[in-house]
Formats: sequence, structure tokens, C-alpha cells
Amino acid sequence: MSSKSFNPFAMAQSQFDRAAEFLNLDTATRELLRNPMREYQFSIPVRMDDGTVKIFRGFRVQHNDARGPGKGGIRFHPQETIDTVRALSMWMTWKCSVVEIPLGGSKGGVVCDPHNLSMREQESICRGWVRQLSRDIGPLIDVPAPDVMTSAQHMLWMLDEFETIHRGHQPGLITGKPVGMGGSLGRTEATGYGVVYTIREVLKELGLKAENTTASVQGFGNVAQYAIQLYKQLGGNIICVSCWDQHDQTSYTFKKSSGVDLDALLKITDRFGGIDKNKARDLGYEVLPGDLWVEQDVDILIPAALENQITAENVNKISQRVKIIAEGANGPTTPDADKVIAERKIFLIPDFLANAGGVTCSYFEQVQSNINYYWERDEVLGKLDVKMTSAFQAVSELARKRNIFMRDAAYFIAVNRVAQACKDRGWV
Ligand code: GLU
Repeated sequence: MSSKSFNPFAMAQSQFDRAAEFLNLDTATRELLRNPMREYQFSIPVRMDDGTVKIFRGFRVQHNDARGPGKGGIRFHPQETIDTVRALSMWMTWKCSVVEIPLGGSKGGVVCDPHNLSMREQESICRGWVRQLSRDIGPLIDVPAPDVMTSAQHMLWMLDEFETIHRGHQPGLITGKPVGMGGSLGRTEATGYGVVYTIREVLKELGLKAENTTASVQGFGNVAQYAIQLYKQLGGNIICVSCWDQHDQTSYTFKKSSGVDLDALLKITDRFGGIDKNKARDLGYEVLPGDLWVEQDVDILIPAALENQITAENVNKISQRVKIIAEGANGPTTPDADKVIAERKIFLIPDFLANAGGVTCSYFEQVQSNINYYWERDEVLGKLDVKMTSAFQAVSELARKRNIFMRDAAYFIAVNRVAQACKDRGWV
């Protein structure tokens, strides 16, 4: 479900404008925050396995670093554009701010499709990306991390290239590293678990028990898989997941009303979260068109794939039973669809709050890397729960007190802190 004219950066700016208006920000602050402070666009030449050289387009956008070094992932995706990276960098600024970690917002990407690249070719892209940016990223400047189709292995190649250029170990350069190589326990599960910590808080507010609820999930990558795991541990039932099929170049929804079995599905899933549909049929799953995840008769919708998925075109197909939408993805809902969701009084947990668990754990990873002492998994996840819960409660309290939409409440808190930091520094 993606319309061709969709521009994620225009959407991020319009969300920001709404917050700026409410907060009555002055003109200079608005101008500063509605655009990234710095942008890098470059070519990465890579010698392919067949001996030819291919040029890949790379990006890094640093939206704002008033509250701390830029922070944000690197996405490998064939449809990556500078505007997608701009939007994602802006959302990173609000994300770090809403959970009150001392970091700014950045994002990076490379236009490529890892499905069609060998690991050696991907390594060359990672090293080339770092060579282009070696003076413009760093533990005190801008700290990358994984995102769609990048993993701990990619982070380690990037770190190795950076350390080779700058000489000496600098594990604070990058987060999402492998455990044992400067990574943090809990980082892999952090984003998905964070989504469920916020769902748990909403269930409490609504007086619902997880075991009496069902959910439908879009996506079956890192965020979705761990959200499913924890939600099931709380007693909830996931009746379907939807994911991209690389072979057919379309998505499918895999449905089992008795509940999807995460472990069984993982056995028939590729490393990009693509489920084998024939094997899924053998396991008793209905294989439906990809869009249908949004129309299911469930209590909770969890979009955990890409931006622009709940739109004016499909928002009215959301079942009357849906009480909660927890945005595991960045930017899955358009402003048009937001209006309908707000009118219907569905409890929305906005993206940069719901999925802030990843970057929060990245921050913990940096702290551990800096002190060179690594915490137990329970300690990491305990700290993550505290951060996510208190950020959620602050947003939800504002939404309740002022009778405003959850996305607006999250924006007001996050933008206000960043604007204040810019002001305190004397920038505006
Ligand atoms: N890519 C993740 C996000 O969108 C994590 C970023 C990070 O850990 O820096 O939040």
C-alpha cells in the first residue's frame, strides 16, 4: 500500500509544523528544525564478485545535534531516497528527545538490495560508506546503527573500517554491534520489546488483559519478530503477520486464527524476514494478499515494516474492534489517516515513542562501550523498560490532560525539548 506521490519528508515536515504552531515557536527555530542541519550524498564504487565495478548511492543526514551527537540507523533499500533519509533523521531527533537520551537525530542509507548482493559485496558497501564519511561521523559527532536490511555484521565492518582509518579502538562509533565485540545484550530484541512495553501500558490504561486480546502485525523483520515474542509472553494472541515476498515482488498476509507460531515461522523465514509461502501453507496458514493485515478483526494493529502503510485509502478498513495501533515502523501512518484514527479514538502509540527501544538500547550500548564494562541482559532490559514506561507515561498524561491525540502529545514534548536545547546553546 504505497502511493507514488508519497514524500516522507513532506509528511515529517507537516507533522513538525503542527507541533511548531501549537508550541508557538519563533520563525528562526521553525526554520532550523524543519530542515536537516547537514546532509551528505556520495557514490560508493564497489568491485562486484563478477569483476565489474558498480556505483552505489549513499547518504547520511544529520538533522539536529543540539541535545547530543547525531544518532540513527543506516538502511539498505532499493527504494531509498534522500527524502526518506531526511524524514527518518528528523524522526530520530524527536525519538531521542521523547525518551530523554542525550543524543540528536541522524539517518543514513544506501540505495541497494541486499537480496541480490553477496556478503563480500555488502562488506565493500559498508567500508565504502565509512570511507566517505570518516571525518563526519564519530562517537562525539554522529553514531550510526542498524536499520532495515542491515545487521550487527554490517556494523562491525563499518567499525573496523573506521578504526583502521583513525587507528585505535573506538567502539562508541557505532551501535548494534555483535555481543562480544562491543555490542550490548538485549539490543537485538530492544525495538520489538519496547513496542510491547508501551502496549502493556496502554492495556493497563484501558483496563484490558493481554490474554484477552489479539493482534495483527505488518512485517516480519527484527522489530516484528521480537514484538511478537514478548506480546505472546504476556499472553496475547497474534493471528497474522504480513511480509514481503522477494520472488513475487509483492507482500502476503499469513493468517492462523488460533495464533501464529513464531518459532515454526522462523524456521521457514529468510534473513530478511521473508516467509516461504508454500511451507507456510503446509503448516496450516492461510496465505492472503499483503494488505489484509490492516482489515483483521483484532484489538491491536502493529505496523512494523515501512512508512506510508496506513493511508486515506485503507484507514476506513480498520475493524471497529481495533483499540490500539502501536507503530513499530517509522512513519507508517499518513496525516490523512491520522485524522480518522483520532476521530475514532483509537489509542495510537506514535512511531518515535513506540519504537524508541532500539535507540534507547543503543544509548546503553554506547555507555557500556565507553566504560568498557558490559551489563547482564536483565539489567539492560530492566533499564529499557523503565525508560520506555516513563516516556510513555509522560506522553499519555499530556494527551489525557489536554485531551489531545497521542501523536500530538509526543511531538509537543519532543520538539519542545529540542527547541529549548537550541535556544540554550544560543543558536536561535
Ligand atoms: N534504526 C533504529 C531506529 O529507527 C535504531 C537507531 C539507533 O539505534 O541509533 O530507531
